[in-house]
Amino acid sequence: MVTSSQPAVPASTPLQPGQAYEVHQDFTSPNRNLTPVGTCLDGQGRLQVGGCTLSHLAHTYGTPLYVLDEATLRATCRAYREALSQHYPARSLALFASKANSSLAITALVASEGLGLDAVSAGELLTALEGGMPAERIVFHGNNKSIEELDLATERGVTVVADNWRDLELLAELSPNFQAPIPLMLRFTPGIECHTHEYIRTGHLDSKFGFDPDQLEPVLQHLSGCRWARLTGLHAHIGSQIFELQPHRDLAAVMADALALARSLGHPVTDLNVGGGLGIRYVASDDPPSIQEWVRGVAEAVTQACQDRDLELPRLLCEPGRSLVATAGVTLYTVGSRKQIPGIRTYLSVDGGMSDNPRPITYQSQYTAVLADHPSAEPTDTVTVAGKHCESGDVLLKDVALPPANSGDVMAVFATGAYNASMSSNYNRIPRPAAVLVHDGLAELVQRREQPEELLRYDVLPARLHSIT
Ligand SMILES: *Cc1c(COP(=O)(O)O)cnc(C)c1O
Repeated sequence: MVTSSQPAVPASTPLQPGQAYEVHQDFTSPNRNLTPVGTCLDGQGRLQVGGCTLSHLAHTYGTPLYVLDEATLRATCRAYREALSQHYPARSLALFASKANSSLAITALVASEGLGLDAVSAGELLTALEGGMPAERIVFHGNNKSIEELDLATERGVTVVADNWRDLELLAELSPNFQAPIPLMLRFTPGIECHTHEYIRTGHLDSKFGFDPDQLEPVLQHLSGCRWARLTGLHAHIGSQIFELQPHRDLAAVMADALALARSLGHPVTDLNVGGGLGIRYVASDDPPSIQEWVRGVAEAVTQACQDRDLELPRLLCEPGRSLVATAGVTLYTVGSRKQIPGIRTYLSVDGGMSDNPRPITYQSQYTAVLADHPSAEPTDTVTVAGKHCESGDVLLKDVALPPANSGDVMAVFATGAYNASMSSNYNRIPRPAAVLVHDGLAELVQRREQPEELLRYDVLPARLHSIT
């Protein structure tokens, strides 16, 4: 297992071909690694992921390139599934929070591992359905769902998570179309604080998500009169990139109280959905709990809280996003210009940036990078890796140690599988990168690279402006 006292990525250790790159890789809980499982060196000392040499991928598919390792994604799915069945005595299901990285290929992989999925827009919902996720394993979230989105979700048999009174009004409007009562869950704000970035905390009371705890009883009473809905579960989500176990333990008690209330009001609620939030390792000093530890903590707390209240155990649902896909992803860039400001810093620019990874500029997130063909070279330079966008803040890694890099070198940034592609933009009219899935030496394109011409597709030039000179 990786611990924070050991450098997770060796700086200058000579490694043998095929030897694991990260010295203490944790194969059972990839969220604790910096690199995808099985990351190693090829015969020429170049970094390999999923049996594919990264610089080869860069040359074949171009850069920036999102690389997704199938074995890592399957390992995290399995870790959730197995830990749930080991530590929770009743039924359970992990749902992939698809906002972390929504694509047909990821959906298909997650579905094949038996997980479910959470979606928050028509786009995510369609991706899930087209990717082969069974509707009965999908839940539909969102604090401002449109009637069209609700129509799509209910028509396809997806469980709707009501976030507020307006959701219920819109559903009531649609209810004449329902063949049978629709499965419905209620999201409420549990009022739990946790230490993470302010923008990604959602469980405290000042949150746009979910019913206020005061509203829980009125809404449960209201639902008793709604023949079109079948209340199947309760949901809460407290935040993201969380390294502590205690907030989720506290959440279990709050949710068990809500479950007791719902059942006492005559709702045969079967599902308790505790949301996601488990953190991952982005830099060597990060030390998240393993998936097993997190699931065990949640499962034991829910079991205990239900026993304390004499409640029949509900089905336990959780919604991991980041911890399911982040470590499976590596982004490849090509190094371009270098600007040395004596006594200040050296900027190394790459051919992507905040459009393919907006996390550093949004959350001051840190990452780990290496040179793909010299992963074990001595990191003798201190550089700031900048993107190519017209923002001074477009910096992917600030003041990091790297071996001397030349233009044309391929740089690999680890743990970019979550909240990168899904948060990408076309800022500066830069096309989105391609994505490839790697597995056992095979690389397959799963997202085509956007072309600059395609970015004009949605522009409309009014006729009267055609000839303006
Ligand atoms: C974002 C989100 C998740 C996933 O959070 P992670 O930190 O990526 O695990 C799960 N459920 C809901 C409702 C969310 O908004």
